[in-house]
Amino acid sequence: MSQSSDQASQFRSGYIAIVGRPNVGKSTLMNHLLREKISITSRKPQTTQHRVLGVLTTEASQMVFVDTPGVNSQIRKPFNRSLNKLALQMLPDVDVVLWVVEAGRWTELEEQLKVDVLNCQHPVVVAVNKVDRFADKNRLLPELAALSERLPGVPLVPVSALKDVQLDTLQDALYQRLPVGECFFPAEQTTDQPEQFRVAEMIREKLVRQLGDELPYALTVDIERLERGARLVRIEAVLVVSKPAHKKIVLGRGGQRIKAVGVAAREDLERYFKQKVMLKLWVKLHRGQGAYAAEGYGQLES
Ligand code: GDP
Ligand code: MG
Repeated sequence: MSQSSDQASQFRSGYIAIVGRPNVGKSTLMNHLLREKISITSRKPQTTQHRVLGVLTTEASQMVFVDTPGVNSQIRKPFNRSLNKLALQMLPDVDVVLWVVEAGRWTELEEQLKVDVLNCQHPVVVAVNKVDRFADKNRLLPELAALSERLPGVPLVPVSALKDVQLDTLQDALYQRLPVGECFFPAEQTTDQPEQFRVAEMIREKLVRQLGDELPYALTVDIERLERGARLVRIEAVLVVSKPAHKKIVLGRGGQRIKAVGVAAREDLERYFKQKVMLKLWVKLHRGQGAYAAEGYGQLES
């Protein structure tokens, strides 16, 4: 009826920078937020200076999670505080900062990040991760109270990325801070996804997990073959990267990385298809239009 309820029902979209000290659970959180959700886009134009870690599209919003390499790598050099500040402030096209901390563990690195995060121009949401470690809630509450004293006025959302606790609440807190806007990336609008898309998503998830911070942003997963036989599903997927260095990263030494991706993806795919899966993964370097320099790695049936 009112304008504000119109506003409330409008689609929202934005860029969300993930920051936090190593090991707080950023990658885990990312994976669990994106898992089983409508889409991780695999074909994406790179419109910003940031590396896109994942895109979460729902009926209500599109959240583009981006890494902040300057921030997250600088904190490994504790003395380099002013660079941190600069890095965070130079995120003009980020809408929200998601700061991941660990419940009951506040270190010198948090102390430094705090200055930068609280000084940045963007709305901040703090995910207090690993609350599953507190079997006794009575011991968690004082930790949360201490944290809100340290971070007055900053919204805290206790979560467990690993156990999927309160991730919906976190998603909602992020949603509330996103501007009204349209999708940046193509989204599959329906819930009945084309099978190829689901398959690409599962492979991409394993890539994110294996590569973590090294994930090249310009990486697409193309399903070139998907055949369901009586005894076997045959899948061939091409991982297209844009730089020779990225190809090396994805392959790993002696092809070890892509092999691990293949093994993990195949396990998931076999659960999904309830059938044996033969998965072949290839890494291709995209050179301009059409021409590929191929380097293959076959993940054979086992
Ligand atoms: P990142 O360096 O911030 O990306 O952290 P990771 O996502 O790699 O996680 C670091 C470690 O914390 C891993 O061993 C995760 O399994 C673990 N971890 C992440 N989230 C949780 C959680 O919610 N609960 C528990 N108990 N462990 C977690
Ligand atoms: Mg990580």
